[in-house]
Amino acid sequence: QLASLSEAPPDAAFALIDAYKADRSPLKVDLSPGFYRDEDARPWILPSAKQELLNDPIADHEHLPILGHAELLDSAQRLVFDTTPEDANTIASIQTIAGTGANHLGALFLAKAIRPRTVWISDPTWINHEEIWKLADPDIERQKYPYFNKEILDLDFEGAMSTLSSMTGEGDVVILHGCAHNPTGRDFTKEQWKAIAGICEQKRLIPFFDLAYQGFATGDLDEDAWSIRYFFRNTSLEMLVAQSFSKNFGLYGERIGGLHVVCRTDDTRTKVVNMLTRLSRAEITTCPINGSKIVAKVLGNKELKAQWQRDLLHMSDRMRTMRQMLVDGLRKRQTPGQWDHILTDVSYLHFKMHSLGIANTAEIGMFSMTSLQPNQIRILREEYHVYLLPSGRISMTGLTEHNVEYVTEAFHKVLLD
Ligand code: PLP
Repeated sequence: QLASLSEAPPDAAFALIDAYKADRSPLKVDLSPGFYRDEDARPWILPSAKQELLNDPIADHEHLPILGHAELLDSAQRLVFDTTPEDANTIASIQTIAGTGANHLGALFLAKAIRPRTVWISDPTWINHEEIWKLADPDIERQKYPYFNKEILDLDFEGAMSTLSSMTGEGDVVILHGCAHNPTGRDFTKEQWKAIAGICEQKRLIPFFDLAYQGFATGDLDEDAWSIRYFFRNTSLEMLVAQSFSKNFGLYGERIGGLHVVCRTDDTRTKVVNMLTRLSRAEITTCPINGSKIVAKVLGNKELKAQWQRDLLHMSDRMRTMRQMLVDGLRKRQTPGQWDHILTDVSYLHFKMHSLGIANTAEIGMFSMTSLQPNQIRILREEYHVYLLPSGRISMTGLTEHNVEYVTEAFHKVLLD
C-alpha cells in the first residue's frame, strides 16, 4: 500500500542547507537560510539566553501544562499586544511548537471551528504557509493576494487592497506578516496597515498574523508589533497571532512559540481555550520545556530583558550594516540591476517619500528579493559557492565584513555575463 505513495520534492530551503554543508570550498557563502548568523557567519547564542542555558543545573524534565508555561504565556501575550489585565480575559493563548506549530495549530483550529471558505496568502510568502493550510484542510481554498511587484521590486499595496476588497467573502482568513515580511523584507506603512484593517473590518475577514520577527526586524519590540496592536485596539475583529521565539531569541532548535486568539469576550475565550486544548492534547500533549523556561526567565527579569533588547539591537544593526555594505559594493562596481530597495537607509526613505509623494518603508529584517534569475542563481552556487533560494531571496545574515566583497564580485560577474 505504501509503495503507491507519490514522491514529494525535497524542501527547497532545507535541501540548500544540506548542499551548503556538503560544499568543501573555503569560499562558500550561505545567503539562503532564515537563521541569524554572527560576524563570522556562525550561529550566535544570545548573551541574554545563554545565561539561562548554563544556570539551570537542577532542572527537571516533567511535563508542562497542556496550555504551556504559564509565565511564558503571560509575558508572550504582553509582548505582542501590550495587554492590560482586563484584556487578558479576552485572548486565548497556548504555547506551540515554535512559529510553525503556531501557524499549524491556528490553521487547524480555524478549519475545525469555522471552516473558512478561503485563506488568502500574500504573493510571495514564507515557503510553508501554503503547505500548512493544505495539510490542515485541503478543502479550504488557498488563494494569493498580490503583495510584491517583482518587476520593480516594490510593494504592491494597490494590488493587495484591490484583491482583498473585491475578491474576499465574510469569514475568509487573511495571512498577514506582522513585520519583516518573508521573503521580501518589505512591510506595509502604518497608513497602509490602517487601510488593510479597514478592509478586514468592512468585509469581516479574519486576520491571521504571523509574527516571526518581533524585535529582530527593527530592534524595537513595540515598533515591530505596531500592526498587530493597531488591529487589536482599533477594530472589533476576532484575530489570530502566531508568535515565534526562534529568531528573536536564537532558539531555533528549542521550538518555542505561541498562538494567540483574540476572542473579544471572556465567554468566547473559554470556548476557544477548550478547543485549543483538545487539539494540542491530541497532537503533542505538551510543548518542549527547556526553551520555554529560558524565554519566560528572560521576559520576566528586568536585567535579562534589558540585555535581550541589546541583543536584538545588535542583530538588527548587523543586518542593516550588511545591507549597506552589499549595496555599496554593487554600486561601486556599477553592477547591472536594481539594488537600492535592499537598504534600510533613511536617505532611500526620503527619496521615496519625495519622489512618490507617499510614505514608504525600506526593507528590514534579514531578507531581500533580488531579480537574479534561476540560471544566475545556479551559476552563483556552482561556480562561486554562493547559495541563495531559487526565488532570488537573499538573507543578509550570511554576509560578513569578510565575505561581502566576494559576494558582490560574484553577483557582478554573473550579471555581466
Ligand atoms: N513564519 C515566518 C514568516 C517565518 O519566516 C518562519 C521561519 O522562517 C516561521 C514562521 C517559522 O518559525 P519557527 O522556526 O519558529 O517555526
